[in-house]
Amino acid sequence: MTVVQLDRIGKSYGAFKAVEEFDLTIQDGEFLVLLGPSGCGKSTTLRMIAGLESISTGTLSIGGNPMNDVEPKDRGVAMVFQNYALYPHKSVYDNMAMALKLQKMPKSEIQKRVGDTADMLGLTDYLERKPAALSGGQRQRVAIGRAIVRTPKVFLFDEPLSNLDAKLRVKMRMELQELHDRLGVTSVYVTHDQIEAMTLADRIMIMNGGVVAQVGSPREVYDTPADEFVAGFIGSPSMNFIDIYRTDTGGWAAEAGGLGFADLPFDTGSRQHLRLGIRPEHVEIVEQGAGSPADLEAKVQLAELLGADALLNLDIGATRLLARVGGTGHPSQGETLSVRLPSDQFHAFDPVSGRALRHVAGLARV
Ligand code: ATP
Repeated sequence: MTVVQLDRIGKSYGAFKAVEEFDLTIQDGEFLVLLGPSGCGKSTTLRMIAGLESISTGTLSIGGNPMNDVEPKDRGVAMVFQNYALYPHKSVYDNMAMALKLQKMPKSEIQKRVGDTADMLGLTDYLERKPAALSGGQRQRVAIGRAIVRTPKVFLFDEPLSNLDAKLRVKMRMELQELHDRLGVTSVYVTHDQIEAMTLADRIMIMNGGVVAQVGSPREVYDTPADEFVAGFIGSPSMNFIDIYRTDTGGWAAEAGGLGFADLPFDTGSRQHLRLGIRPEHVEIVEQGAGSPADLEAKVQLAELLGADALLNLDIGATRLLARVGGTGHPSQGETLSVRLPSDQFHAFDPVSGRALRHVAGLARV
């Protein structure tokens, strides 16, 4: 059982807090992704787990053992880096065998481990080659293989796919998923790519400016983002945000007009101003003849065909919204159409704190 426990872990560089104290328990066999924009503190957090960065406050334990003062090599972790960090003058075999040789493992055992791992990763035919004679994907597989042969208790990945082109990234992502299913080793994976996070993670920890914004399953962070930052960061294209204000009649309306709601399914309290969110994929285009009085008239300012989908920039009065619709027969630029904004797909945020407002009972999304 390898549970990784972070209790009030934090990191400061002088007066600058790179990571604010937080608690997290990474379960045995879990694939946890640390996600966030550049500089949010995700690599620092990973490096504290690895032992490559000292821990300023709090306690780290791996498999129940305190690790704050344990050398990286004695923590039972293996790290895979973005730049592969292979030895250029050594063969694939020697790169993978190196750590085991240093441990003075018997030669026959090394041969077996490297052989089995190379087989698992499709590297058997490349064992005699030097890294320079490999593709980027193959090099990254060697780096992963080098971690696997050590049979670590925890895998740590620091943006391992960032140097690969888009197509190879998708392929390697799937390979990593299969590998994790097969090995079941507790893994912590840093990325700024939300698609990687959504597809690989059991849970995602989203960081913003050194602060943990939310920890949850991909479904949870997509469906119920804790704040406006998470809502805007998860989902591509990003969620639409509209500032709305309380009207004289107790409803809500966008300041510039065009969008109004008699009621909203949120505990709005005494707020007079809210930020409403709706994802582009939840803006519905109403078929001609199927409309209702609640539908809104929208003008297509720009239509971009992505292939399977199209993105429409819509003007509803003075409010601009992005809609994602099916790509075949999508409306074209200049067209006027009816749209529906389903209130059960709304998100609402406090405009000052950014925190998500609760849905009122009975109207919560399922
Ligand atoms: P990226 O995706 O760009 O690597 P990140 O989320 O991994 O970003 P970190 O590398 O964890 O970010 O850095 C977090 C913050 O800590 C940044 O503001 C960074 O400038 C700062 N930082 C990192 N290392 C040091 C250091 N040795 N001294 C001072 N500040 C540092």
